[in-house]
Amino acid sequence: MPITLAEFDATVERLWPTEFAEGWDAPGVVSGASDDRVDRVLLAVDAVADTVDQAVAVGADVLFVHHPLLLRGVTSVAETGYKGALLAKLIRSRCALVAAHTNADIVDDGTSAVLASRLGLVDQRPITPGARPGTGIGRVGRMPEPTTLGRLALALGEILPATATGVRVSGEFEQPVATVALCGGAGDSLLADPAVRGADVYITADLRHHPASESREQSLHGSGPALVDVSHWASEWLWLETAAAQLTEALPEVEFVVSDLRTDPWDFVITQ
Ligand SMILES: [Zn+2]
Repeated sequence: MPITLAEFDATVERLWPTEFAEGWDAPGVVSGASDDRVDRVLLAVDAVADTVDQAVAVGADVLFVHHPLLLRGVTSVAETGYKGALLAKLIRSRCALVAAHTNADIVDDGTSAVLASRLGLVDQRPITPGARPGTGIGRVGRMPEPTTLGRLALALGEILPATATGVRVSGEFEQPVATVALCGGAGDSLLADPAVRGADVYITADLRHHPASESREQSLHGSGPALVDVSHWASEWLWLETAAAQLTEALPEVEFVVSDLRTDPWDFVITQ
């Protein structure tokens, strides 16, 4: 019996229950018919023109993404707007759109946990614990061997897919690092968390001037972590391989393909 979109969505719901998503989030099925057949799924961080084109080109029945395309109130899906155009292309190609966002961040093998595991962190625990044991936002743990901030940043450069903006660091190259806090995606809301303040370094994405500067000054004044700012897309892209493996185990009759297209919005930088 072929797998239907309803059955695919039930598997997504089992792996990443939407009841544990943040209240403002909008995961789940964005478009598609419940009884549509699902033979092939393309996984990507973002539903953008490149990944929608790729989904259609590879004949995917579902584009499964981390970031919901529709997160705020929508009053039109006219194709003069890019979101309407993307949805229309997907619907005409009978390719459904499904998202797992903060419900995939929080689980014990979610976006932050995958990055923590790739760094080899031991004694991992969430920065902000969730409702179920082992779940929660962000991760904190110890490096298997003490290292330096510079070596940690170089290791991140090896682990993460390449982006124009690379890995930005606030701190001394040679300063020692034993305890690491991290949050895949935009994690500046956790900068004041005691688990982050108590770590030697905090790795996240999308750090803006004021939160980063204030954290740095507080670290210099008293104590606090060095900062590592990576690409939002890169920090979450790692999770797609884990998600594909989990989905493959649950639905072996479906083919899961991870998109290697870079949907980080930055294309080049000028270094001075
Ligand atoms: Zn994100």
